[in-house]
Amino acid sequence: MSGSIEKQIQNEATQTEAVGSDGIDRRGFLKCMAWAGTGLVWTFAGGVPTSRVFGEPVKPSAQSDFTFVQISDSHIGFNKPANTDVTATLQAALRRIDAAPGTPDFLIHTGDLTHSSKPAEFDTLDQILAPRRQVFYVPGEHDTSVDDGKMYLDRYGKGAKGNGWYSFDHKGVHFIGLVNVVQLEGMGKLGQTQLDWLKQDLHGVKSSVPIVLFAHIPLWAVYPEWGWGTSDSEQAFAMLKRFGSVTVLNGHIHQVMQKVEGNVMFHTAMSTAFPQPAPGSAPSPGPMKVPADRLQSVLGITDVSFVAQRRELAIVDATLSGMTGEHRESGL
Ligand SMILES: [Zn+2]
Repeated sequence: MSGSIEKQIQNEATQTEAVGSDGIDRRGFLKCMAWAGTGLVWTFAGGVPTSRVFGEPVKPSAQSDFTFVQISDSHIGFNKPANTDVTATLQAALRRIDAAPGTPDFLIHTGDLTHSSKPAEFDTLDQILAPRRQVFYVPGEHDTSVDDGKMYLDRYGKGAKGNGWYSFDHKGVHFIGLVNVVQLEGMGKLGQTQLDWLKQDLHGVKSSVPIVLFAHIPLWAVYPEWGWGTSDSEQAFAMLKRFGSVTVLNGHIHQVMQKVEGNVMFHTAMSTAFPQPAPGSAPSPGPMKVPADRLQSVLGITDVSFVAQRRELAIVDATLSGMTGEHRESGL
């Protein structure tokens, strides 16, 4: 995909958000984009998450269909003006999940669980997420910078390898959680040990099996000038070329960005704590203060549905204020 289309996607996202926050009737606002070349249909449907313009409903029906939810960048412990109560907004995110139709099989948290890796911050997060059936984690740099991630590993790394990477299978989909925040060199880095493990892990996985890869820092070059990329991710994607469907879920940048390259769909999630500026739109990345009545419209979750029969993943971003942006990957 060319840079200009990427920019266009980003502009559309900004535009959609702007319309919503201006108070124009969201229910009546609809934005549709389609590229035949990429096989992607990206639909923004305001107000009603279930309304779809393209294709059939992807509401799970068959036994092997399922949904899971990605949450990211909770930053428990953060208390600056950009959001003085990140615990409350995480709780609001969970209420948003509960209000959606159907029950997700599990949650994936893509890192920066805490702001400062303090035991009390991890405790708060655990208390909020404890009632959830299952949560899969990968660490963010805020979870590992104090002690190289030792406390994170003690709490969430049971059965994981290295700094906390692992894989698991669920209803015909292979999930891989990667850690790219420990060997930070400006950008994220996976490191040779993890890449060697990944090669082993993928060995024996059929090319027809859908892959979901998740890590904290984007695994694609969103904006290297701000460290928003992973220096050795190309080596990982070389191993993933043979797979028909690869979905990559990241956090760290606190905003939705998406790119499709061949059979790989890259997607970043909103934070549950505070927004960050669009790439290059500020002198540096960091917490961005928005008017209090807008905060809920820039925080949110990502809901992913898998339809086994069509080997299709549908991704829906939902803000805490109820606005929904839908990104749909069409069948392979
Ligand atoms: Zn981060």
